[in-house]
Amino acid sequence: MTYRPGRHFLQIPGPTNVPDRVLRAIDHATIDHRSGDFAELGRACLDGMKSIFQTLGPVVIFPSSGTGAWEAALVNTLSAGDKVLAFETGHFATLWVKMARNLGLIVDVIPGDWRHGADPARLEERLTADASHEINAVMVVHNETSTGTTSDIPAVRRAIDASRHPALLLVDTISSLACIDYRHQEWGVDVTVGGSQKGLMLPPGLGFNAIGAKAIEASKKSNLPKSFFQWADMLEANAKGFFPYTPSTNLLYGLREALQMLEEEGLPNVFRRHTRLAEATRRAARAWGLEMVPLVCAEYSNSLTALFVPAGFNEAALRALILERFNMSLGAGLGKLAGRAFRIGHLGDFSELMLAGTLAGVEMGLELAGIPHGKGGVDAALQYLVEA
Ligand SMILES: *Cc1c(COP(=O)(O)O)cnc(C)c1O
Repeated sequence: MTYRPGRHFLQIPGPTNVPDRVLRAIDHATIDHRSGDFAELGRACLDGMKSIFQTLGPVVIFPSSGTGAWEAALVNTLSAGDKVLAFETGHFATLWVKMARNLGLIVDVIPGDWRHGADPARLEERLTADASHEINAVMVVHNETSTGTTSDIPAVRRAIDASRHPALLLVDTISSLACIDYRHQEWGVDVTVGGSQKGLMLPPGLGFNAIGAKAIEASKKSNLPKSFFQWADMLEANAKGFFPYTPSTNLLYGLREALQMLEEEGLPNVFRRHTRLAEATRRAARAWGLEMVPLVCAEYSNSLTALFVPAGFNEAALRALILERFNMSLGAGLGKLAGRAFRIGHLGDFSELMLAGTLAGVEMGLELAGIPHGKGGVDAALQYLVEA
């Protein structure tokens, strides 16, 4: 391997660039997780995460990737043979459906074209038609990371309420938490799923559930097998700042630092920064003439941008070239979009000049790969950043 000077640009939509402050915080002697010092760390993390999910209710933290937190949301609230309703918004929604089926749930999927968010009107129709209330839960991915499409969760909530249906609302915010405004409590979500390696600026390895009161009630009747992901044991230990088994102590040091950084910047400013950098990216894409994956402007994601390459070109080749020449990783096309669309991650610890470098890498890559495109994408983005 030859040495590559300068920083690697990790512009995939998670894991994201981990800031030095977080890396330094993780670089700490591992302590006794039954000690008083640990309880302070545990409490800081458990309480701090409530403000990130915008809830006063409990948040639990698992030593797992986001996928583990998906599983926890399902196995703690549902029972074998229960019916759940899901939206086919893209690759991650599809994987969550597959998991639900593996766990013994019956999943009804509202089909989608991978270019739109969850449709509240279709949801209201389905729930209204379910007069006997056989559907136990609705699963929605807030920010579909494979397509760069964000769903309107308050509208989803209104659709459930309008149909007077008691189904639980389970929402995946793995790639939107601490990037795009999200309010677990105000929006009436029952379980929200998160992960550490995207907006939270940490390495992979922590999974989160924010849990509402109705979900706690449901967990008392749920009979799907669970042990490692059982909320009850976790909540009991968490009450004193502890965990029922060895937690990811050093990642929690990182989390405490990341929470501190988010508090210093202020969540509303964090959301504004993501909106601004996302809009600058879209200006660049428009100048290049590359087609965005989402079809509805209101659903454009502020965490990432997914762009089609023209027919006859392969996004994998473009990404390989950019990695080789410029030491930058971009997100692959996933599932149905493999080969057709690449993704630019602009979430987490990310600034205007990092964006300028990222877009410059894409623009030079397009040129070197011989992909027909308009000139001036970087200029359009910089102009927006200067003016807006
Ligand atoms: C990354 C991601 C996941 C999967 O999380 P892992 O940490 O890889 O298990 C699930 N859903 C969404 C929306 C994601 O972005």
